[in-house]
Formats: sequence, structure tokens, C-alpha cells
Amino acid sequence: MEHIRCLIIGSGPAGYTAAIYAGRANLNPVVYEGIQPGGQLTTTTEVENFPGYPEGITGPELMDDLRKQAERFGADIRSAIAIKTDLSKRPYTVTFDNGDEVTADTLIIATGATAKYLGLEDEKKYAGMGVSACATCDGFFYRKKVVAVVGGGDTACEEATYLAGLASKVYLIVRKPYLRASKIMQERVLNNPKIEVLFEHNTVGLFGENGVEGAHLVKRLGEADETRYDIAIDGFFLAIGHKPNSDIFKPWIQTDEVGYIQTEGATPRTGVPGVFAAGDVADPHYRQAITAAGSGCKAAIEAERYLTENNL
Ligand code: NDP
Repeated sequence: MEHIRCLIIGSGPAGYTAAIYAGRANLNPVVYEGIQPGGQLTTTTEVENFPGYPEGITGPELMDDLRKQAERFGADIRSAIAIKTDLSKRPYTVTFDNGDEVTADTLIIATGATAKYLGLEDEKKYAGMGVSACATCDGFFYRKKVVAVVGGGDTACEEATYLAGLASKVYLIVRKPYLRASKIMQERVLNNPKIEVLFEHNTVGLFGENGVEGAHLVKRLGEADETRYDIAIDGFFLAIGHKPNSDIFKPWIQTDEVGYIQTEGATPRTGVPGVFAAGDVADPHYRQAITAAGSGCKAAIEAERYLTENNL
């Protein structure tokens, strides 16, 4: 079985940044790209808030640059998905869907999180053409336009408030007759004159010629007074939660009730020595490319220290 000193699973900003640092520290990192090579940013068009790109850069280009930078320092990047881990004893064992089985002295988990979608065909049809799961990433493109946000939790309220600072009007589409968000977030939404909350509404489709121009809504779905109508919108934002990609680590690693990996304070250390978590898989709060990259850097520094301290 192949033995690896520093194994990185995931190829978003966290994984590649960890690979750059680990490569420069001569740890000969091996990166397994995972389900979505390049991570969530490959599904975004323009990235304007990653420092160092005054004119902005597309998500795929940014990830391509990060990948090249990691390769320049010797990262061995492979395409396969981790399907099983054994972190009960050192060295740790990881099995991949292409049949690879490796052992590792240190493991950096950078598997990210996947935004939840409603499951409508139209969400796929208009991906990158008006449908987004990240207001901070894409909100800027909807200045003075009309947008809708789906969800009733803290994320939805936060995104609706953020978008209200840019857009001319924001619909918040909530399936229940109340918001699940914290009181303060609810108040912010309900007191914002630009936000109209549509309680007890479900979205059943989107329409538009060259991008989203509107949504088909149903009020009180399945009730006697069910009503169907359309609203005109330019952007449709999902904020119904994320699923951290942590399932295969759960037997060994502490997660919160949603599945986010819990690390020790502000460090990327998990409860398992030599195993670190970086990026969105361990971050329910910020979920930004730059914060993920920062935590990937921390994880690689921790891995290097761990290997030195243990003479590995
Ligand atoms: P939540 O799980 O809290 O909320 C998800 C929301 O989406 C709920 O209103 C839910 O509706 C709705 N929803 C889920 N599935 C569907 C669907 N298929 N159709 C329509 N609506 C749907 O997720 P969040 O991302 O909002 O928050 C995750 C965690 O992060 C929470 O603990 C939250 O408090 C925290 N957070 C904190 C922030 C802060 O403190 N500033 C900011 C952002 C998040 P329903 O209520 O009917 O289930």
C-alpha cells in the first residue's frame, strides 16, 4: 500500500492552498480532487472579492491558477473520490473510488460543503444564468434589480438583507408561515422596506429567455385556497442550507448536528492527532474562498509541525 506523508482530500481553495504550503515545506503532498474538482468556485462565474485580482477573475480560472501553483511546488494531484477512512490507528488509511488505498501520516480534510437546491429542473437550466446559492459571491451582479431568496433560516435572512443593500427589491420565499431565523435576523428582514416576505410559498419553476426572468410560485400548496402565480425577478438565490461533505470521517471525527467538523478553537486540529480540517467542511459561518484558503494554509503548517514533532 502506498504511504503518503501529507494527504489532502479536496481541491477547493482550502485543499489547493494546503497543497501550496505543504509542497513548499517539502511534505510531498498528494491531493485527491474529490467530487467536484476545483470545488464550489468552479460553478461561479465572476469572483471579485478574492484579494489580488483587481479586475476580478472567473471561478474556474482562479481554481486553475491555484492548481498550477500547487503543482509548481510538487503537489501530486489525482482525480478520485475518497469513499472510506480508517482513522482509528496511525498511519491512517483512506480508500478511493478508483480502487486506490493509501496510508497517511497526516490528513487534511478539505472536502467542502454542498449547497442544497430545491431539486427543480429549472435550477440546472439557469445555473450561472440567474440561479445562485451565494449572495456574497453573486449579489453584486443584481444591483438595482429584483431578486428572490428562498429559505427562512439565518442564512436566508442574512442573504436577503445583504441583497437588499444592492437590489431594488428582494422577495424572501418562505415555505412555512414563520421564519426559523434568530429574532434579530427576523427583525432586520421584516423591518427592511425593500424586502417582501412571501410566507407559505413554494417555488415550482423558473422562466426566462436568456436567463431568469421570473418564478412560478404556489401559495399554500395543497390547501383548499392554494393559489398559483408568477413573480418577475432577475435573480434566484437558494439559502436553504448546506451539507458539509464529512460523512466518511464521522466515525472518527467530531461533527456538529449538521455535520460540520468541529476543530479545536481557531485551529484546524480535529480530535485525531495529525488530522486537520480546512475550508467549508469545518465552517458553517463564513464559507468564503479566502477564509477557506486561509484555513488550508493553517492546516498545512500544522501538518508540518506534527510531522517534525513526531519524527515522521
Ligand atoms: P437552516 O437549516 O437553519 O434553515 C434552512 C431554511 O431553509 C429553513 O427555513 C427551511 O425551512 C428552508 N428550507 C429547507 N429546505 C427547503 C425546501 N426544500 N424548500 C423551501 N425551504 C426549505 O440553514 P441556514 O443555512 O439558514 O443556517 C445553518 C446554520 O448556520 C444555523 O444554525 C444558523 O443559525 C447558522 N447561521 C448563523 C448565522 C449568523 O448567526 N449570523 C448566519 C447564517 C447561518 P423550514 O424552516 O420550513 O424547515
